[in-house]
Amino acid sequence: MAELNGGCLCGAVRYTTNAVPEFVGLCHCTDCQKHTGSAFAIMVRLPKTALQIQGPIKTFSKLGDSGNPILRHFCPECGSSIADEPTARPGMINLNAGTLDDPSLVVPTLEIYCDSALPWVQLAGMQRFARTLRPV
Ligand SMILES: [Zn+2]
Ligand SMILES: [Zn+2]
Repeated sequence: MAELNGGCLCGAVRYTTNAVPEFVGLCHCTDCQKHTGSAFAIMVRLPKTALQIQGPIKTFSKLGDSGNPILRHFCPECGSSIADEPTARPGMINLNAGTLDDPSLVVPTLEIYCDSALPWVQLAGMQRFARTLRPV
């Protein structure tokens, strides 16, 4: 895959990666709805070591379903939600695809936490999971 570049709304935070995503998926969980201010998060799952972030990232931590914290990274200047880090999956990070310079470079193939999906979200050709991708 080509290099993926992105950043926040104000430009204070920038990131780049060369990694091939493990997957691109939508998360309908209520925490992702809050964090992104939208119907779902578009997650680009990458090894954390393959992602270079520059800028004044702030992190909010909240326990996820697994009982482990999910670290949610955002720009303290403009509030853009950049990524989340499920500590139940050590070493992995989920970029929020809406912050990519060209979000069309990634295409989601699966949806998780469909249990809390908004009823009007009806997408064709997706692999759907009620909650997590696999047993924790
Ligand atoms: Zn910003
Ligand atoms: Zn979520």
